[in-house]
Amino acid sequence: MTISIPTSKIKTTNSNITVQNVWEAKRLISSVVKKTPLIYSKAISKQFGAEIYLKYEHLHESGAFKFRGAVNAIYQLTDEEKSIGVTTFSTGNHGFAVALAAKKLGIRSRICVSEHVPKAKIDAIKSLDAELEIFGNGQDDAEQRCYQLEKEQGLTVIPPFDHPHVIAGQGTIALEILEDLPSINCVIGGLSGGGLLSGIGLVMKNTNPDIGVIGVSMEKGAAMNASLKAGRPVSVVEEPSIADSLLGGIGENNQYTFNMVKQFVDQSYLIPEETIKKGMAYLYKEHRIVVEGAAAIGVGAILDNLIPVKKDSKVVIIVSGNNVDTPVHANSIKQYL
Ligand SMILES: *Cc1c(COP(=O)(O)O)cnc(C)c1O
Repeated sequence: MTISIPTSKIKTTNSNITVQNVWEAKRLISSVVKKTPLIYSKAISKQFGAEIYLKYEHLHESGAFKFRGAVNAIYQLTDEEKSIGVTTFSTGNHGFAVALAAKKLGIRSRICVSEHVPKAKIDAIKSLDAELEIFGNGQDDAEQRCYQLEKEQGLTVIPPFDHPHVIAGQGTIALEILEDLPSINCVIGGLSGGGLLSGIGLVMKNTNPDIGVIGVSMEKGAAMNASLKAGRPVSVVEEPSIADSLLGGIGENNQYTFNMVKQFVDQSYLIPEETIKKGMAYLYKEHRIVVEGAAAIGVGAILDNLIPVKKDSKVVIIVSGNNVDTPVHANSIKQYL
């Protein structure tokens, strides 16, 4: 069961985004985005003979780490762009993050989501002053609608992951982790479009190429995993998952995250639905937190021995968000309590 952390494959060139950009993002967003706690998990650590920490990214005002990238991207707009407003397509958390960031800056936002986005996320977006548009069957339809709005109304599209300012914003997570745990050996995070692990991977690999960076996705419809295997961005059929925030494609014309994930992520694992639910139940029981599937997938994967943990190593798991319908959460965890 014990396997060493995968050997790194650092290549710090071939990307226009640098660690300096991440520091710039940190400075820019610090008045709005609060540092999140890094929590030592006594329960998991004891079980695996390692030091396991949880990065509580579900504690953001928007309920997920996507607030970092959204605030950075919006703060970087020109005054003219701000005066017209922004739009985005999203599986939910990014849409909510953009809506909240726009509200804080007092600018117009229009959020396009697909029909698959759960009610909790829709309600959350509506509760802000954002305009909401439910459009199409998947993220690709919602995306097309956004670019139509850009043409028709001049709104700036803030993409959920494939954008330098978004990636740099998510990278600030890694700066905070390094501040709290400079001797970290490995970080594990949910992998969908790859903004999260592009940003974190950029900072970690440039700090120490031996720090492992591991991505976890649901078993079915994991576009980044399929793309890594194919060697180019490919689309996959979307299927419902308890980790709904990990659904969606990476874009056929992916500019940044595909290459960055290829460079900085050492391993990409596919995780069954039941394992994700076990992770949600465990975090509720042992840490008294309510988190969505995408946020519990790393914990579930470790508990089910799907990701090897090296003895005595220091591992950080990103607990990425909390936007889950209460009945869905209750139903998912009850068999594992
Ligand atoms: C978006 C999201 C992820 C995955 O981030 P990517 O940048 O798309 O890879 C993981 N967890 C939650 C809660 C998210 O909202």
